[in-house]
Amino acid sequence: MIRDPETLNQLIDTLSRYVRDRLVPVEAQVAEEDAIPDAVVEEMREMGLFGLTIPEEYGGLGLTMEEEVLVAMELGKTSPAFRSLIGTNNGIGSAGIVFDGTEEQKQKYLPKYASGELIGSFCLTEPDVGSDSASVKTTAVRDGDDYIINGTKRFITNAPRAGTFTVMARTDSSVKGAKGVSAFIVEAGLDGISLGAKDKKMGQAGSHTCDVIFDNVRVPADSLIGGVEGKGFYTAMKVLDRGRLHISAVSVGVAERLIDDALQFSMDRTQFGQPICEHQLIQAMLADSKAETFAGKSMVMEAARKRDRGEPVSTEAACSKLFCTEMVGRVADRAVQIHGGAGYISEYAVERFYRDVRLFRLYEGTSQIQQIVIARNMVKEKQ
Ligand SMILES: Cc1cc2nc3c(=O)[nH]c(=O)nc-3n(C[C@H](O)[C@H](O)[C@H](O)COP(=O)(O)OP(=O)(O)OC[C@H]3O[C@@H](n4cnc5c(N)ncnc54)[C@H](O)[C@@H]3O)c2cc1C
Repeated sequence: MIRDPETLNQLIDTLSRYVRDRLVPVEAQVAEEDAIPDAVVEEMREMGLFGLTIPEEYGGLGLTMEEEVLVAMELGKTSPAFRSLIGTNNGIGSAGIVFDGTEEQKQKYLPKYASGELIGSFCLTEPDVGSDSASVKTTAVRDGDDYIINGTKRFITNAPRAGTFTVMARTDSSVKGAKGVSAFIVEAGLDGISLGAKDKKMGQAGSHTCDVIFDNVRVPADSLIGGVEGKGFYTAMKVLDRGRLHISAVSVGVAERLIDDALQFSMDRTQFGQPICEHQLIQAMLADSKAETFAGKSMVMEAARKRDRGEPVSTEAACSKLFCTEMVGRVADRAVQIHGGAGYISEYAVERFYRDVRLFRLYEGTSQIQQIVIARNMVKEKQ
């Protein structure tokens, strides 16, 4: 749903110019230095990019899903590290409170996420708990007016910058699966919290993950999101449903960027006496990439509109994430191929994007997990 086309167009125009004129020129520097310049972080704050999805009454832009995916597609046209910086505040790092938080929790944290003053991270994954995320081992044991949290969370995006962590922890050790898990909002400065070394990643330099270790961390009972135990896994799944559409849209945006780079290169590069874009085998790669990107975009838009109508989109979100993230992998591979040897050299952005997009198939549910979600829903609907 687009609430006011004029306002949205202005936002997208501004963002599009910012991506083209400010972010694309510093992509290589960010990759080289593994850091986003402070000035860029500040500009992104000023543009309101940390609060795209935070409701307006808490200082954000309150974008609908359709509006959000259009914005995410624009952001996809530059290094995913920039998107990742604002990604947790607009998604997994804040959505638990937006969806299920108490009014006090919303008032306390959402305005700070929206302004970018506070970075929120999402702590679900653990060393022994990945795809089987309902089997969370981190514990939160009630002690008077507090809970005591113990456990290690792994690969946590933006943890080195985080001011708060949304932590999924088991409050009822007698219940093994999802029902024993609760979600907490935990402030980063508390005693007993420590961070592991930054992970050395395949791609997305400039975006950082690390372990977050909770060693007898005492949090007040009102840190329990929504104030009710046993709802944390369901909160996490709602958060991820929305996140899947966002990642799908980013994948579409990156695919569009890669097509643009590959098309330009194919028009500039001459072999056998003509620009390589005149060779039909190159044209096939360009055309397949265009068609698949269009298909992905159509899926995301349809699913986003359905979500805005208040209809369930678990299947559509999983279908979109599965297709779009796999699709951008194929598009990146073709973009490298079209560049020939140059595609393997880091001077060309396609080399970097090829590595960057690999992550999209892994986090917020691997491709196999999307397949399982889709098939399970199919069976359930048929029964
Ligand atoms: C850069 C990065 C950032 C991340 N950010 C965050 C974050 O901010 N917060 C957070 O909580 N987590 C984060 N993660 C973790 C991420 O969500 C997990 O890595 C992902 O869910 C997969 O879990 P796993 O790595 O334990 O793999 P595993 O679950 O061990 O899976 C290994 C392989 O087995 C497959 N597999 C597993 N179960 C099945 C099954 N039932 N059927 C078929 N195949 C199966 C998987 O698809 C995969 O191919 C991040 C990861 C990375 C790499």
